[in-house]
Amino acid sequence: MINYRVDGEGIALIEWDMQQRAENLLNDESVAAFGAAVHRALADPSVKGLLIASAKKSFIGGVDLAQVLKASEAEHVYCRMLEWHKLLRHMETAGKPVAAALNGTALGGGLEIALACHYRVAADDPRAGFGFPEVTLGLLPGGGGTQRLPRLVGLDAAKAMLTEGRPLRPQEALKAGLIDAVVHPGEERVAARRWLLTDGQDRPTQPWDRPGFAIARPEGAATSGASSAAVPPTAAHRILVCVEEGTRTDLESALAIEARHFASLVVTSEAKNMVRTLHFAMNEANALGARPAGIAPGKFRRVGMIGAGMMGSGIAHAIATAGIDVVLLDVDLAAAERGKSYSRQQLSKLSQKGKMTEDAAIGVLSRIHPAGDYAALSDCDLVIEGVFEDRDVKAGVTRKAEAAMRPDAILASNTSTLPITGLALASKRRERFIGLHFFSPAERMPLVEVIRGKHTSDATLAHAMDFVKALRKTPVVVHDGRGFYTSRVLRAYLSEAMSLLEEGVPAETIENASVIAGMPIGPLALLDDVSLELMVKFAKQDRADLGPDYRERAIDRVATVMTEKLGRPGRKAGKGFYDYPPDGKKHLWAGLADALAVRCASMSMEDVVERLLLIQSVETARCMEEGVVRRAEDADVGAVLGWGYPALRGGPIGWIHTVGIPEFVAACERVAARAGSRFLPPALLTSMGQRGEAFYPV
Ligand code: NAD
Repeated sequence: MINYRVDGEGIALIEWDMQQRAENLLNDESVAAFGAAVHRALADPSVKGLLIASAKKSFIGGVDLAQVLKASEAEHVYCRMLEWHKLLRHMETAGKPVAAALNGTALGGGLEIALACHYRVAADDPRAGFGFPEVTLGLLPGGGGTQRLPRLVGLDAAKAMLTEGRPLRPQEALKAGLIDAVVHPGEERVAARRWLLTDGQDRPTQPWDRPGFAIARPEGAATSGASSAAVPPTAAHRILVCVEEGTRTDLESALAIEARHFASLVVTSEAKNMVRTLHFAMNEANALGARPAGIAPGKFRRVGMIGAGMMGSGIAHAIATAGIDVVLLDVDLAAAERGKSYSRQQLSKLSQKGKMTEDAAIGVLSRIHPAGDYAALSDCDLVIEGVFEDRDVKAGVTRKAEAAMRPDAILASNTSTLPITGLALASKRRERFIGLHFFSPAERMPLVEVIRGKHTSDATLAHAMDFVKALRKTPVVVHDGRGFYTSRVLRAYLSEAMSLLEEGVPAETIENASVIAGMPIGPLALLDDVSLELMVKFAKQDRADLGPDYRERAIDRVATVMTEKLGRPGRKAGKGFYDYPPDGKKHLWAGLADALAVRCASMSMEDVVERLLLIQSVETARCMEEGVVRRAEDADVGAVLGWGYPALRGGPIGWIHTVGIPEFVAACERVAARAGSRFLPPALLTSMGQRGEAFYPV
């Protein structure tokens, strides 16, 4: 766990080296071993200085998040944090110099150890990052980070770092004063040792323990970096409170303030939900946990993209950015060139902002090969079809593409609604046909829904997942069905907003309720953005495909009235649920309630919020019952990345877990009695509730 040795000159090396782990983490065992090593070095009169280092590629990663999931008693956590503070405080005040040799990334708890050292020297490795990502998981740094950081780098810089959660590269960290020196990789231990034997001998104290110390507090300056949209207010708010309160008192009291906030945050369902979904489930999805085993990795040298429209041009851009050549094909060369020009615009924006070098941009562009002839697909390992959402058009494209493609290449459809098994009927090799559902804008959205048709083979699924990973996106595997997973649940949610509207709930209330629920944008604003016309198209498609099984939904009715009767199809037309005046300040259309001839309902905000949340969870549970989604983790990751479901609720299944299955079932039955059978709990939930089962460990 911790290697300990004292060299001839009296420097004790305390080297983190956790066995069976790729990186060093703070857990009960490693913390105890570290504490023992520190005490041993401080008590040994022959030791002149302590050198803290790592035997792994990175320094120390932070707290083992599995412990966060298990934390249940705030009082217990508080006491543990106080013990940890006592150790670090002892280390920095015992009169012996302590230096950290940062050979690589140090995050959260790992960086907090480094901050309790008197000297920090880092390897100049541009891949290394130093920061506090806790806020992105609904947590706060509990090992002194909120107190030592502002004392080291000043109040404003610390607040920004702690609430944004973005790690700094070594050179940035040096400039910010977070570390003392940057050296060539491999020389950090030598440099740290040299300091311990020279300057360190004269000054083994922290700045905050020296007389006259004052925190850099810019006068009159506005507080910066209060929070970003992705950050739940609870964690960011508590961080700011810790910094503000803690920097007005002595360090010991400040650390106790931090421990109190940390302990009360760690036991919340919000923190656990975020850790479970954003950390564990997301890592597992990115590590391709659902990939069929025993299949050699797929290699992608050249990929085809048919359709250079909105989706095709974005997908081609993402492929070229990942370093893969892409043939971008449309009805003729000119149309394909127009698709490539989208990349040109995006790249020039990136270079202007300094986010990409000119050379890199030229490289990306050179990998996009526009074409007007299907023969250009002959050497592609995988081809994606992103043409109009029309079965006949897609069938024609499938036949033409397969005639040109290598027999072993995969054909993927980017359809958002048409079942893959049906589209595969046009294919001569259905085992190599699959769905890859990208989200718009494809170059930025991190999720790809990988849809397995009835005939899709394991090898095709595995290679399609490898491809998504090569694009540095997150794949979630779903099974065939109308709307697959994400589009289906999102549509159920949007339709619920339309039901509320029809029942007479004011549009403002619905928009606000969705924000209270944690959704990034109100459902009416979202519908305007994606266009109500598209919803009418979906309704018509459903009616045609389902025949007598078709059930009209609120969204079908409202979208049709808005588009066909009122001429308000959405943002593109400048009018939908909102008006879009030229000054850019959209506002809800005043004529909405009259135009829809709504009934007058009096419903509390809590009831509206509940319906918007329940419907997403009920529909997701139905997807699981039908086998469209097989694992709770996939459902939750897909929801958070796919339609911005609030991570602090875990996900639609994470939310059922948080509420408790029996309680959730009861809520469904109560709401169904008033609002309709769409809320009736699926048998999966009632039977899990009766058996006392849970989706996640409790
Ligand atoms: P689009 O109309 O912007 O682009 C379609 C492109 O396909 C056009 O450039 C058209 O010229 C080209 N095309 C049509 N027939 C062709 C053929 N026979 N050969 C070659 N090219 C042909 O449409 P879009 O919004 O990019 O959507 C494309 C597909 O992606 C659809 O299946 C859609 O359902 C799906 N999708 C869309 C979104 C979205 O947000 N728009 C999201 C996910 C998936």
